[in-house]
This record gives sequence, C-alpha cells and structure tokens, in this order.
Amino acid sequence: MRKQVIAGNWKMNKTHTEAEDFIQTVKNEVPSSEQVESVVCVPFPFLQKLVEETKGTSVEIGAQNMHFEESGAFTGEVSPVMLKELGVTYVVIGHSERREIFHETDEDVNKKVHAAFKHGLTPIICVGESLEQREADQTMDHVESQVKKAMEGLNDEQASQVIIAYEPIWAIGTGRTATSEQANEVCTHIRRVIIDFYGSDVAEAVRIQYGGSVKPANADELLSKSDIDGALVGGASLEADSFLKLVEAGKHE
Ligand code: PGA
Repeated sequence: MRKQVIAGNWKMNKTHTEAEDFIQTVKNEVPSSEQVESVVCVPFPFLQKLVEETKGTSVEIGAQNMHFEESGAFTGEVSPVMLKELGVTYVVIGHSERREIFHETDEDVNKKVHAAFKHGLTPIICVGESLEQREADQTMDHVESQVKKAMEGLNDEQASQVIIAYEPIWAIGTGRTATSEQANEVCTHIRRVIIDFYGSDVAEAVRIQYGGSVKPANADELLSKSDIDGALVGGASLEADSFLKLVEAGKHE
C-alpha cells in the first residue's frame, strides 16, 4: 500500500510572519499517520526557519526548485548541497511554471532529478499537458515523454523513490480541476510507462500525485482513485485550515 503524499506548493507567496503563523498551526495539528505524509514546499528564504520549527513533527519541508550543480558561478541559484545542509527533504522539479516561464527543459529536469538523489533529496517531478495538447489528443504521449526523459538513467532504487506530480497545465490555478477519471487515467498511464522501464515492483512503489485546483471539496474524490497517491496543491495549501483538511482527506485512503 502506497503512502499518500499531500504537498503544498506555496509558489511565491507569504511573508515571513505569515509563514510562521501557518507552520505554528499546522505543525501541532498535522496527524502522524501511517497513511499520509505532509509536505510544505516554501520559498527559499523560509526554508531554514521552517525546517527548524518542524523538527520532530510530522511536517516535512520542501523546496520549489534548485540548480543541478553543487556550486559555482550561477548567480541567483540555489544548489542541492545547500538544501540538504538545511535539512530540506523534498524538492519540486520541473513545475510547469518553471518550464514555461523560466524555460526549463526536460534535460534540465533530468539533471536536477539526478542531483536530488545524489544529495539525498526526494524529487517531486512535475509533468502535464497544455490545453492545446489535451484537445489535440496528445496528453498521453506528452506526459509519457516527460516521464521518460525526467527518469532517464535512474537505477531501480532511485526510480522507486520518485514522486511524480501529474498536473495538467489547464487545471493549475484556474479552478478547473480534471475529473477524477481524467486524472486517474493519466496517472495509470504513467505507472504503465514505469512498468515498461523498471518492472512492476518499482512502478508499484512510485507515488503519483495529481495537481491542479485541488481543494478540500474535491480531494476525497481525487484521492480515492486507484493510481492517485496524493496531491500537489497550490492555492488551497496557503491557509492552514485548508491544508489540514487536505491531509485529512489523504488519511482516509
Ligand atoms: P493550484 O496549483 O492548486 O493552485 O492549481 C497547483 C500547482 O501549481 O502545483
């Protein structure tokens, strides 16, 4: 049985005080559970403080991006070594906003995934199609290609630890959620792609999240699906109450 992962993705939101308030509430109320893991992926400036404050609790702190190199002349970038040193455990890689706005390629994503494993971080790899691709019936091919390229060169052990977030771009921040059937269909396809490359033991271990306008009102339905093992949540992860409800929804499956 795979453990659900509910991960908040704050994006570029919150002040330090707001981040503090959130974590004070959430860290005391998040249940420690066999069924669900709670992760909050926050902007770089909040990482150190939030990692310290959540030590010994059931909340894990993640970053939203990183460079693949360990150090060097990359002004404005943050390295996996720095994240590891802070005690960060997860890192979101290849979010569609990074791919679209900051022109990250599949090759960058693959290098970052390798760098994450080299430094003991768990990558949450984002994949997903645009509206045009969905309408042109290219969803499965596109997502399959993104997954293959992101995971290229991983060994079985690494592959089994990957978290994949299937996030249709048209559902992100739009209030337009994929139906649970649409979401599950793609997540099932992703698992099949992993079976082809790594076999069923690895594929059965990989956690596949759905993301795109997940909120407490639709989380139960999405998380009840056979191949959906959690959610990557933007807007609805910003308020402590809402985040806690999402974790609760993950617990029931
Ligand atoms: P959303 O964002 O929940 O606000 O749609 C999801 C994401 O971008 O990870």
